[in-house]
Amino acid sequence: MGSVAESFIGSIDQGTTSSRFLIFNKHGDPVASHQIEFKQIYPHPGWHEHDPLEIIDSVEKCIDGAVAAFEQQGHSVNSIKAVGITNQRETTVVWDKTTGEPLYNAIVWTDTRTQALVRRLKLRLGADKLQDLCGLPLSTYPSVGKLLWFIENVPAAKEAYEKGNLCFGTMDTWLAFRLNGGIKRNVFVTDPSNASRTMFMNIHTLKYDDSLIDFFRVDPSKVHLPEIVPSADKTKYGSLASTRLTGVPITGCLGDQSAALVGQKGFNEGQAKSTYGTGSFLLYNVGEEPVISTHGLLTTVAFDFGGNTKPMYALEGSIAVAGSSVKFMVDNLGFAESSSKISALAETVEDSGGVTFVTAFSGLFAPYWIDDAQGTIFGITAYTQRGHIARATLEATCFQTRAILNAMEKDSKKALTELAVDGGMSNSDLTMQIQSNLIGIPVNRPAMRETTALGAAIAAGIAVGTWKSIDELREVNTQGATIFRPEIPKENSDKRFARWTKAVEMSKGWLGD
Ligand code: ADP
Repeated sequence: MGSVAESFIGSIDQGTTSSRFLIFNKHGDPVASHQIEFKQIYPHPGWHEHDPLEIIDSVEKCIDGAVAAFEQQGHSVNSIKAVGITNQRETTVVWDKTTGEPLYNAIVWTDTRTQALVRRLKLRLGADKLQDLCGLPLSTYPSVGKLLWFIENVPAAKEAYEKGNLCFGTMDTWLAFRLNGGIKRNVFVTDPSNASRTMFMNIHTLKYDDSLIDFFRVDPSKVHLPEIVPSADKTKYGSLASTRLTGVPITGCLGDQSAALVGQKGFNEGQAKSTYGTGSFLLYNVGEEPVISTHGLLTTVAFDFGGNTKPMYALEGSIAVAGSSVKFMVDNLGFAESSSKISALAETVEDSGGVTFVTAFSGLFAPYWIDDAQGTIFGITAYTQRGHIARATLEATCFQTRAILNAMEKDSKKALTELAVDGGMSNSDLTMQIQSNLIGIPVNRPAMRETTALGAAIAAGIAVGTWKSIDELREVNTQGATIFRPEIPKENSDKRFARWTKAVEMSKGWLGD
């Protein structure tokens, strides 16, 4: 039986392919969870949608599923004191203010239907000033392009806009709105880590910026933008109006990558985390002032715990193809039966035998931003074995991670001392050892790698006093961590990185003719 005094925090982890609900104790251990996958909708090449109602339904079912498992362990539902939300970022939903019903499917962050629109926007006067104001350059990712697409292409959205009834939200806003019961309470909020992905928010003030709204030619009297409130807040996110947790307050909200940084306890300037999932996302805490990148990175809000604390900022770098390259070796090339066996295959050789694999399946993201590269394998000889190619596949993500860290050091003018890691590909010991060798600093992999969900629970728990301050979280999820330390001399890793850089140069322009 759980002790009477013990309290727990729930975490809604609304990801790109599944929704989950986890219940954490004060030590940061997940004691119960439930996960549901939902439909991926691809109406045309490059289009990617989710059904907003199916997502709400999946979240509600996850909450009830996890609560049932929690009770089976003898815990009382009343010991769950608050709930946090973490979500896929940029994914956009629009709904009608009068009905609270969605006007179309959600457009997912990966969706590229706004390519032509983005090209047009880039030509507009002031396009080059956007990054200084909002931290992001124009691309298909931010929510603003998705909103413009809705207004231009979905008659119901256009009509709601003309009538001044169009509500815009990222997934956190949609979840908070519906989980509070929709228009009855009309909870309409977002946190700065999510708002910093829209291109509407001034990254310096954490407020909507008229010049950004003007640039996108959106009429602020016709579209409703959610109120930006701190990532940890006792009242603004309302409370659950359905499920077994009816009445439990929602008190934390963070975009998924920010949540992972918080879950890794990257609270202080100079700390960084890398999540090696399908793609890989690095966030580097730069402290209380935003750093606008001049080296191919994005600026984002790490978290804002409100009260008398200052918001913290991060530099972000993403790699399009990370774990998916390992999956490619399994699914497309049949090198092994599973991702973990690719790592085992790579262990059969001592090094990549001179093979360098630039896994630019859809160009290269940060810090290179090369659109016209495609995947290219260099250095194949009669000596090359499958193990060499497997190893070169794992190395590709590690090399790109080093390139991003180099850019982060240049932008922030500080050198990182340790990298915290999570995500599917971090399960590979070999990959993490290679990573440490290439960046020359320790790589710290916690035993419990549900860091994204933990981050949202931490935000929610801070708001309700489960943890009085971030100092109390020092011991959370430290036991059983694996630390990988560099095992090769710097000259060696520099030489290998120089070879990688040459391969990146040579992969440019393949799509050009
Ligand atoms: P996402 O959240 O993006 O769906 P996950 O964090 O679940 O991703 O990670 C899944 C990815 O991790 C897959 O692409 C898979 O190839 C890779 N992966 C999982 N286990 C291993 C392993 N042992 N070695 C290398 N890659 C792995």
